[in-house]
Amino acid sequence: MSTVSGRREARGLLVVGAAEVVTMAGGLRRGPAQAEPAIAPPGTAVACLDGRIVAVGPEAETWDALAAALAAAGGDAAAVDRLDASGATVTPGLVDPHTHLVFAGSREDEVAQRARGATYLEILAAGGGILSTVRATRAASEADLLAHGRRWLAQMLRTGTTTVEAKSGYGLDTATELRLLAVAGRLAAEGTIDVIPTFLGAHAVPPEARAAHPGDPAGATEAYVADVIAEQLPAVAAQGIARSCDVFCEAGVFSADQARRILLAARALGLAVRLHADELAPSGGAELAAELGALSADHLGAPSAAGIAALAGAAQGARPVVAVLLPTVPWFLGLAAREPARELIEAGIPVALGTDFNPGTSPVTSLPLVMTAAALTLGLAPAEALAATTVNAAAALGLADRGSLAPGLRADVAVWDVPTHAQIPYWAGADLLRAVVAGGRIVAGGATGARQQASRGTLPDGRPAGS
Ligand SMILES: [Zn+2]
Repeated sequence: MSTVSGRREARGLLVVGAAEVVTMAGGLRRGPAQAEPAIAPPGTAVACLDGRIVAVGPEAETWDALAAALAAAGGDAAAVDRLDASGATVTPGLVDPHTHLVFAGSREDEVAQRARGATYLEILAAGGGILSTVRATRAASEADLLAHGRRWLAQMLRTGTTTVEAKSGYGLDTATELRLLAVAGRLAAEGTIDVIPTFLGAHAVPPEARAAHPGDPAGATEAYVADVIAEQLPAVAAQGIARSCDVFCEAGVFSADQARRILLAARALGLAVRLHADELAPSGGAELAAELGALSADHLGAPSAAGIAALAGAAQGARPVVAVLLPTVPWFLGLAAREPARELIEAGIPVALGTDFNPGTSPVTSLPLVMTAAALTLGLAPAEALAATTVNAAAALGLADRGSLAPGLRADVAVWDVPTHAQIPYWAGADLLRAVVAGGRIVAGGATGARQQASRGTLPDGRPAGS
């Protein structure tokens, strides 16, 4: 939004001509509804103003609604961008509810180690894995971390992501965790993608805690949990730089009891809670997520039957726990085990999908590629995968103002160069975006150069010039 002579310039956008408009209207999807995308009738247009959706409906009606909204906004310098979506599929902008965006370095060497038979936990125990990224991240400057974040956010935007969760967790001390969350906040402030910061101090036990408790890994873990609760969490809460708190709840990392103590402390400080649950083995994570009413339980590669039952029970309530599945992780780790996605959906548990973007187990930025993995390895239908990356992913972040196309919501829209949403996961790895609209602005276009193609004209009488 620019200012001209002190006046606010109201600026409208109309997305027209789509072959298919998937609105995802109707809120969180669970059970059979996960497969219901809410496809609008042919000829549906989407009108946006001031970063919000004004109307979704027949083109003439949306023009009228946009003209009225422009007039109400006093937009005497009014203008409208007209985005031609002919032959394309229009969906809500995608929401990535689980990433470790802010880190330094890369770990391609571990791919080769795993190919020779090393396991994830063996690499971690030998000082690699998360801890090698912690070393690189602690050594990185803020400018380095910002540049890294910008680079990968730009990649995400090019595959349709308009909101991304970003966890800390590669600092593992108060100062560095605060620095990582501050970087996420700066990326949110400057960026076109909305960045939602999550505090994940309990991601791994740092080397200095192990050094202070030689031969006593359990004591080191307990000491670090105490540090997270007594030092890190209060500092994070005092600065107001995280929306939620996450814990890596996994056998051999942090126990369900330790996760409970951290998350209860976080909640007492006003943070929402979520957790990495049962990624590699049943660890009580799903049960804990249900007990605490967490926003999400993530990974769920190996939940217990009791854990699934607990999440199913929570799903009947007013605030279900969203199961965030990350199917590129077992793929990248070469694991045979898969998240029991069909069992979760049949149990009525809302399912979301995320990239888990991180340097060790999923250096993946593309949600469409995650949708492909979900279709091929978890048995999700395209509509289920799309609900999982829009409305359900927004719910996993506690965000009610995005994830579907409806008046009043954020104007986050993806325009795909395919005639139906069913082709989004089908053309695996292809660049399918004609345009991405974030906060009402056209911010990215694919090979067809939509940003340049968008025509612009004034709206003196409620109708666009040249339409
Ligand atoms: Zn993760």
